[in-house]
Amino acid sequence: MSDIEGKPCILCCAITGSLPRKADNLAVPISIAEQVESSLAAVEAGASIIHAHVRNEDETPSSDPDKFARLKEELRRHCPDVVIQFSTGGRSGADQERGGMLSLRPDMASLSVGSNNFPNRVYENPPALVDWLASEMRTYGVTPEVEAFDLSHILQAITMHKAGFLYGLLYIQFVMGVKNAMPADKTVFDFYVQQMHERAPNAEWCAAGIGAQQIVVNEWAIAAGGHTRAGLEDNVRLDKNTKAPSNAALIARAAALCEVYERPVATPQQTREILGLCEA
Ligand SMILES: [Zn+2]
Repeated sequence: MSDIEGKPCILCCAITGSLPRKADNLAVPISIAEQVESSLAAVEAGASIIHAHVRNEDETPSSDPDKFARLKEELRRHCPDVVIQFSTGGRSGADQERGGMLSLRPDMASLSVGSNNFPNRVYENPPALVDWLASEMRTYGVTPEVEAFDLSHILQAITMHKAGFLYGLLYIQFVMGVKNAMPADKTVFDFYVQQMHERAPNAEWCAAGIGAQQIVVNEWAIAAGGHTRAGLEDNVRLDKNTKAPSNAALIARAAALCEVYERPVATPQQTREILGLCEA
């Protein structure tokens, strides 16, 4: 335990996503102004990475690079050192549209390296698209956060990183609890962590749980020495009967767990050091 206690824990806030709507929870930030306000409160609560999608005015997902550019500019202005991570996830557009904002040089971008099922569809990540997104990230100096919905994605990311295809430090997020993909299962989680230690000892990892599993996976990750993600993209509730009042409230819950496990919450500066990112 001694190498885990005292290790700063990076909290990532997934502020918007492409699915939750105001009808699910009024606190889901949709406009750029709402996204910036929600992000600032989350940073106050302990978030040092903002994971962002952008939306159209009618709340549908967008992949418009102009919107990403405005969001980046506004976040930088209000919160100069926070780590900005854009989603290249598959709901916002087709094929190469998904990476159209990488030339904006965000600090990080999410990257899926394999396909799997989602609640109502196949999440398609064909090898040629994965390779193209990874090469764009190398071109623009964007560190990927690999989204692992399955064990094969973890092993594939390790292989790609060893071959020099992934820019920067290897950072893998275990996503657990997506319907029809890997459930939030503690035995599997422990195996994921063990695989990281054995196969990629210099990498860092984080974990996210969906819906009611968010707080469960937050605790597993914090206790096991990893980093973790919270926010309205993954979960709009504090419990079965209570909607989360804000992104900040979900980050505060994770920050409270860090205290329980005697792990300081990483500042944006510490997060940049741990993940080998440049200064903002
Ligand atoms: Zn996302």
